Amino acid sequence: MDFSLSEEEKILVKEFERFCKEKIEPRAEKLDRNPTKEDIIENLKMLGEYGFLGAPIPQKYGGGGMSWVNYFILSEKLAEACASTYLSALAHTLLCANFINMFGTEEQKSKYLPSLCSGEKIGCLCATEPSCGSDLGALKTRAEREGKYYYLTGTKMYATNGPIADVFIVLARVQKNGQSKKHEGITAFIVERDTEGMQIGNPYDKLGVRGSPTSDIYLERAKVPAENVVGGAEGSGFKQVMKVFDIGRVGLAVFSLGIASACLEESKRYSKERIAFGKPIAAYEDVNFKIVDMQITVDMGRAIVLKSAWMHDRGMEDAGTMASCAKLFIAERATKNASDALQIFGGLGYIKGTKVERLYRDVKLGEIGEGTNEIQRRVIFKRLMKELGYA
Ligand SMILES: Cc1cc2nc3c(=O)[nH]c(=O)nc-3n(C[C@H](O)[C@H](O)[C@H](O)COP(=O)(O)OP(=O)(O)OC[C@H]3O[C@@H](n4cnc5c(N)ncnc54)[C@H](O)[C@@H]3O)c2cc1C
Repeated sequence: MDFSLSEEEKILVKEFERFCKEKIEPRAEKLDRNPTKEDIIENLKMLGEYGFLGAPIPQKYGGGGMSWVNYFILSEKLAEACASTYLSALAHTLLCANFINMFGTEEQKSKYLPSLCSGEKIGCLCATEPSCGSDLGALKTRAEREGKYYYLTGTKMYATNGPIADVFIVLARVQKNGQSKKHEGITAFIVERDTEGMQIGNPYDKLGVRGSPTSDIYLERAKVPAENVVGGAEGSGFKQVMKVFDIGRVGLAVFSLGIASACLEESKRYSKERIAFGKPIAAYEDVNFKIVDMQITVDMGRAIVLKSAWMHDRGMEDAGTMASCAKLFIAERATKNASDALQIFGGLGYIKGTKVERLYRDVKLGEIGEGTNEIQRRVIFKRLMKELGYA
């Protein structure tokens, strides 16, 4: 495995890092303290203009045609600069645009991808419901076909970008007689914002990633043209979304990695500045061992993210399991690291407006979104059982 970048790619990464530091990071605190739709939309538009939102989408649809390895190297810079902006960009690109790119028909790709790549339109994925998140196969939203339309009825929960999105990938079940497996009939639809019968809930007031707007979506016989079934493949939604999560989970691993990296940098800086008992606190083992653990998370985390992305670039069979390993490993460690970073800041770390206080709240989502830690362990265990011949 060789992750070395060409000179041109190194310049690209440096430039994107500077863009994130100059344009995104200075807005992160305000986005957390007083989140507005306008601010996050502006950030996403800047990222669209920069070419980041469409980076992994093929050039023929307005994207950058970038490999997963290179895309995730860039992504870490954004996640480090502002976790909220990164989460919204992730839902937009990996869960919506990439869903259409992976499974859409040629017409769907040509219609939706160019404006998603440019950031003119914002995307989201609506899978979770009030009665199911981990157990997506149990979803209750129904889709009934009448002539050239499907009518969707149900409630979707916690949709990242819900309040600002134009294009929604919605999972709903087309019920047919004789369905035996519980994920049968689940179908992915492309639903546009002004669809008759669809309403967007108010943004949630969240613990962290407060700048990334999250809402419920209410569907009451929402009228969706039959040509908006993703890939024209009724009943394939469950398999499709699982494949999308395989790459989305690398994205969420990078979310945690970026935060761990920000914790490391803040801790290194502060521990050199803060004097206690006549010395910088960096001189004390209890402090610098915490920093060592953060460094390990960042170095090992980056390695496992790149391995996972590299496997996805090659379409390798175990790429999804590796994504679960990456997400689980970094999410757990990053949460501990954020707690340690706050500890290094002492009382100051507990005060709103201190960066580590925000990171401490943001980081927890890495252990919940796109499959909790418990679900990742189940995925990895299933793979092990197969290897051992038990499944
Ligand atoms: C900020 C935010 C953004 C989100 N964005 C999106 C989005 O864009 N689109 C979307 O569709 N969803 C989104 N979600 C939803 C998220 O994916 C779910 O919250 C997550 O998958 C967990 O589902 P749940 O909340 O229903 O928890 P549950 O499934 O009810 O789980 C509750 C607890 O039980 C555990 N558990 C459940 N089943 C098992 C099991 N079999 N074995 C062991 N433990 C188990 C879980 O690990 C967890 O600890 C978002 C959530 C948040 C908080």
